[in-house]
Amino acid sequence: MTSAATLTVLGSATPYPRPDRPCSGYLLRAAGTAIWVDAGPGTLAALQRHLRPDRLDAVWISHTHADHTADLLPAYYALLFADLRPPRPIPLYGPPGLADRLEAFLASTGPNPASAAFDVHELHDGHRADVCGFTLTSHAVQHGVPAFGLRAAHGDRTFAYSGDTGPCPALTDLAADADLFLCEADGSDPTPHHCTPEDAASAARGAHRLLITHVGHTLTEEQAAERAGAPVAQPHEVHHIG
Ligand SMILES: [Zn+2]
Repeated sequence: MTSAATLTVLGSATPYPRPDRPCSGYLLRAAGTAIWVDAGPGTLAALQRHLRPDRLDAVWISHTHADHTADLLPAYYALLFADLRPPRPIPLYGPPGLADRLEAFLASTGPNPASAAFDVHELHDGHRADVCGFTLTSHAVQHGVPAFGLRAAHGDRTFAYSGDTGPCPALTDLAADADLFLCEADGSDPTPHHCTPEDAASAARGAHRLLITHVGHTLTEEQAAERAGAPVAQPHEVHHIG
């Protein structure tokens, strides 16, 4: 069976959003299903070019650094205190501790207010979730905090996403046979917790196609693309998976 699956780039900046480029965030879609992958600052606004936030089937968060999560907070307000009417809390998959962090920020004295907007599921290595035709499998990666990469399968199409991570065996496994592998390429020089463009290219050897993202200030986009041998994800782009 084949299926049309796409990845829309909402943003790819780090560690802060730029006027025309939100931080990390992507919209994964197939057959009417929509999943927001990472909620970096600026991505909630960009998401609305494509669908109403209350129409999301799920949100998946790689780790709790603000350049990947900050827009969960305005999303909470959008879902509960505006014109949007989600029929039920939206499933939110994220690292251990995410629910507590939302609760602390939202500063309630009662039950965790985030639970009215989001049905939070905390990830572990090998965590698997079925979301309206997508199978989401989370792999623990190496980022100095609890962090996960994602493999998302829909029909015979597979998308893989590094989240933030240094080069590690889990990253190579994540990319194996993926139709599209989206990998961070944060830095010019090797570090334990981020990839260089060469690290991304090396991890992508088993993937059919590489797209790099999350290019930090020590690299220009042109340098990163040349060193990785792959393009840099640009806001508004829609990539077909497979
Ligand atoms: Zn990070």
